[in-house]
Amino acid sequence: MKSLRTCILCVAASAVSVTAVLLLRDRADAQVEYKSGIVWPEPEIVTPGKDNGPPSDAVVLFDGKDLSQWKGGENWILKDGYAIAAKSGLSTKESFGDCQLHLEFASSEEVKGSGQGRGNSGIYFMGKYEVQILDSYENKTYFDGQCASIYKQHPPLVNACRKPGEWQTYDIIFEAPRFDSEKKPTRPCIITVLHNGIVVQNHFELTGGTYFDRPAAYVAHSPKAPINIQFHGNPVKFRNIWIRELKEIVGKKPEPKEEKK
Ligand code: MG
Repeated sequence: MKSLRTCILCVAASAVSVTAVLLLRDRADAQVEYKSGIVWPEPEIVTPGKDNGPPSDAVVLFDGKDLSQWKGGENWILKDGYAIAAKSGLSTKESFGDCQLHLEFASSEEVKGSGQGRGNSGIYFMGKYEVQILDSYENKTYFDGQCASIYKQHPPLVNACRKPGEWQTYDIIFEAPRFDSEKKPTRPCIITVLHNGIVVQNHFELTGGTYFDRPAAYVAHSPKAPINIQFHGNPVKFRNIWIRELKEIVGKKPEPKEEKK
């Protein structure tokens, strides 16, 4: 008797569940899909690279073989698929505005110097906005000057440095500042940095160019300019450098409908 009652209760519960599922499905069917009406161009197809290699639309700035994409390359030392900073900085022959930059670097295995004197280099976008390179592994300096800082403007959110001699990656998203016809900035320079895959600068808005000896300030410049790699007296190694220009994808917005009178 007891088992018959249990059985009846089970059947009733199942019937309630099925009804609930059907009701939910009907409600989903009744939903009207939202559409923005914006007509978007189809995003271009880009084939990703393997093992941090360049995607199909990247400009390769250094593949380990030569520094022909750079002014000053003759001053650096090429060895075993990497380049060692020496004598002078490098400057790209091509100019860039908004971009995504990948590069790999390693400070010397032999630990020499301290603070700003150990593994110092840097990436200068447009020759003005520096993402610092430094050996900041167990090497203290002022925080807005350590590795992955926006020099003298913003420390990295965390210290993601590997040990001296180990290869490290930077993936940097750079947005150039914009200026109006009177040379006043209308949009700041914005930088995002991933250091060894870790976000260390999150859409940081710069207050101007990064300088050693004066406060940050904007001075109007062209929309595109070369990228520099600093030589600061330390034999920092570089490899696998590529860049992608970034263009906003623009859709056509629908004309606003006139209200019926
Ligand atoms: Mg530097």
